[in-house]
Amino acid sequence: MRRFILIVAMLCVAATALVAQPKVIAHRGFWKAEGCAQNSISSLRAAGELGCWGSEFDVWMTADDHLILYHDDEFEGRRVEELTLEEMRHHRLENGEELPLLEEFLRVAQEYPELHLVFELKAHNNKEQERKAVRASVAMIEAMGLAGRTDYISFSKDACVEFATIAPQAKVLFLSLTGALSAEEIKDANLSGANYFHLFYRLFPRFIDRLHECGLEAGVWTVNNKRTMRWMMKHSLDYITTDHPDVALSLTGIKKD
Ligand code: MG
Repeated sequence: MRRFILIVAMLCVAATALVAQPKVIAHRGFWKAEGCAQNSISSLRAAGELGCWGSEFDVWMTADDHLILYHDDEFEGRRVEELTLEEMRHHRLENGEELPLLEEFLRVAQEYPELHLVFELKAHNNKEQERKAVRASVAMIEAMGLAGRTDYISFSKDACVEFATIAPQAKVLFLSLTGALSAEEIKDANLSGANYFHLFYRLFPRFIDRLHECGLEAGVWTVNNKRTMRWMMKHSLDYITTDHPDVALSLTGIKKD
């Protein structure tokens, strides 16, 4: 009987090990941590200290070619890409922090060598400006020694293709709310995978297998409740982006509650 219990216990351990655990990405940093704000240096630090696999953040290029962290398309009623840095710099995040320049943010990222950076370039209306933003972003990431742990994501297919072309060693995942590209289209564009809205996978779970059959990766956003996190883990998602990375890490067994 004791031997039987031992065998069952060993099988359970083996089964757990066989289930690939998704990599947990803090959405806009671990901004739910006390005193933090979205897309801030404090939320990047909190993600690093929590032990997340990665920390996601949103980047725009201003009209005068500065790369900054900001989520929304508009700032005070005007598109971010049409504003100068000076017109935005007075903005304070909800915790009082300054709006971070990408370079300032990446300097802090250098202090967390285990943390992967999930760099979202926002879809710019001005495609020339977007291309310039891709090139300036990759140049900065490489100059700061972060190329080995930076993945790129964007809702702009053009930006994704550009990233894949000029940073072929990096992973590039296409973002979509509605599943805008098929697995074959993503593969043909030479991208690494899809990063789609969670409801899309719930409606079309077969798509996850299709990505994997094509040698692509599957990421999901933004998964904030435990039941959906468990579903994504059960369905072999490679990356889970969440506002609650502490909860996701506890479910993967990487971090205890
Ligand atoms: Mg984002």
